[in-house]
Amino acid sequence: MRIRADLAKCQGHGLCRMSAPDVYGVTDDEGQVIVEFEGDVPAELEDAAALGVESCPELALEIVE
Ligand code: SF4
Repeated sequence: MRIRADLAKCQGHGLCRMSAPDVYGVTDDEGQVIVEFEGDVPAELEDAAALGVESCPELALEIVE
């Protein structure tokens, strides 16, 4: 599983980070999302990654299989 973030949609709420802090970070300045894994999310973090996707009110995160 990979996560794609659309930074044009990200509003910096940080809800993804609250849901899954091991998968999502935010930039210091504008608070935009940083997906910690450029490639595949480790298997043990896939559920958390999916929770983060669901938590985003801007639909800025997408699961890419
Ligand atoms: S929840 Fe969505 S809009 Fe908020 S920081 Fe995360 S990706 Fe961006």
